[in-house]
Amino acid sequence: MVPKIYVTYNEVHKLCQESADRILAEFKPHLMIAIGGGGYVPARILRSFLKKPASPNIPIQAIGLSLYESLPETMQPGTPGDVETAGTRVTRTQWLDLSSLGEMSNLVGKKVLIVDEVDDTRTTLEYAVKELEKDVQIASERMGYQGEPTEFSIFVLHNKDKEKKGHLPDRIENGRYMAARTVGDVWICYPWEATDIDQHDELANKQAANGTTK
Ligand code: 5GP
Repeated sequence: MVPKIYVTYNEVHKLCQESADRILAEFKPHLMIAIGGGGYVPARILRSFLKKPASPNIPIQAIGLSLYESLPETMQPGTPGDVETAGTRVTRTQWLDLSSLGEMSNLVGKKVLIVDEVDDTRTTLEYAVKELEKDVQIASERMGYQGEPTEFSIFVLHNKDKEKKGHLPDRIENGRYMAARTVGDVWICYPWEATDIDQHDELANKQAANGTTK
């Protein structure tokens, strides 16, 4: 059975806090794109630590992606009896508004930090980077933009040290990718998924006391 590790809100907060200095030093993002649902809470916490006095908060935009197995047509998500399991097909559940040049132009020429909770097979991150780069290219052409290129970087709370199915451009993998923690091939239970947060915290505390986490 895959070992589970329980992560508390407090730990998530501290992982964001300790990563913020490096993010400011190395990326200096103009805005974040949070991949939902797991990237929303880390992005919001990071925003507090990335804020500089007398400067506005860094905006957060949201995209929603789900990973599904390649299933027969009749079993695809959204069809009756759909099955959701970890797999290889990425489905957009929410995306930036491409028809709004205002929204897309916010990205052009900017340093954009993509935030997610966990990098498992890397399929989701590969998809996000590829699709965002495509959209920025389209927006740049529409605007006749000739300035500095848009730069994407990635922050995740946890990276699983395993063979990845997805790949990132070299420029991201070498220097613009940051994971607060690298873990083995475990299943991480995040607090926002818990239906009983007291029990979740108890399990996290028990693991910490046994020295099985951190
Ligand atoms: P990927 O395999 O594309 O890197 O990860 C896809 C998504 O699967 C993640 O964004 C996350 O929602 C989910 N996922 C993968 N591994 C874990 C895990 O250990 N714990 C939780 N809670 N979700 C995971």
